[in-house]
Amino acid sequence: MFHKKEYKLLNQMLDDALSGEFVENKFDETELSKLQSKLMRFLTSASISEIKIIEEKEKLKQLITDISHQTKTPLTNIIMYSQLLNEKTNDPQVLAFTQEILLQSKKLEELIIGFSKMSRLETGILQYDFKEVLISQILNEAVQQGYLSAVKKDIQIHVEVTKNLKITADKKWIVEAIFNILDNAIKYSNPMTSISIRTFCYELFCGISIIDQGPGIDEDEIPQIFTRFYRGNSSGEKEGIGVGLFLSRKIIEDHGGYIKVKSIVGTGSTFQIFFPILSTLKD
Ligand code: ADP
Repeated sequence: MFHKKEYKLLNQMLDDALSGEFVENKFDETELSKLQSKLMRFLTSASISEIKIIEEKEKLKQLITDISHQTKTPLTNIIMYSQLLNEKTNDPQVLAFTQEILLQSKKLEELIIGFSKMSRLETGILQYDFKEVLISQILNEAVQQGYLSAVKKDIQIHVEVTKNLKITADKKWIVEAIFNILDNAIKYSNPMTSISIRTFCYELFCGISIIDQGPGIDEDEIPQIFTRFYRGNSSGEKEGIGVGLFLSRKIIEDHGGYIKVKSIVGTGSTFQIFFPILSTLKD
């Protein structure tokens, strides 16, 4: 049986390890000492592993930054020169080739941005800047980002927001999550349809509904649309790389929320984004 003093010592070792202040000591050959020495070896290797994990994360962060920085200039140049070539030629075959180069380079640009965002979110490198934000402000920014593409397709966006509804969120990232969903509604819907955006509040959750009159999503397909690089039946010729909804779900889950999809093929889809009421404040 251990004595109070020995429990205290073991307890101290664990506290030191948890606060990162653990240092090795020398012990004699008693049973307690053997246990302490084993615990010491375990704690030493655990703290070494933690240091290694931190170092690896730092390296990964650097690699991601390097990839996105170093590919930016060559890619911008490829896009610029293909645009120039496009303007300088009347040859339909050259035009077709340059259009394809442009399309593929833009896709590559999107992929690099997508990879960078995915790994920053997944490795925990990213630090969210949580603050109280008005849902109306989030929707304002997301709608503004989608405005031009909606106008181009003559799609009306109707917004009905409960005033003063706030959530605790990182505005930049939550706008991105909502915009991805709205952008899909615009992208997959036919011209001259409409999209409704509404807020709601239940007992435990508050949130946003985005309702479109697009092609709808098959029930079996709904779980798949949130997986990485998945492009669904409705994607057809539409531009995209299949990471939008994956990112949206991850960001919303990091805010303690979740997404629900209701859809009828041929009629439209409703994406509901729920935020926990604990993080929502009504004035
Ligand atoms: P992307 O739009 O680049 O393909 P997403 O991750 O945003 O990637 O969406 C995944 C798939 O989900 C899309 O390819 C599409 O088939 C389907 N989808 C998403 N939103 C809608 C929508 N509002 N209406 C119909 N299909 C949708």
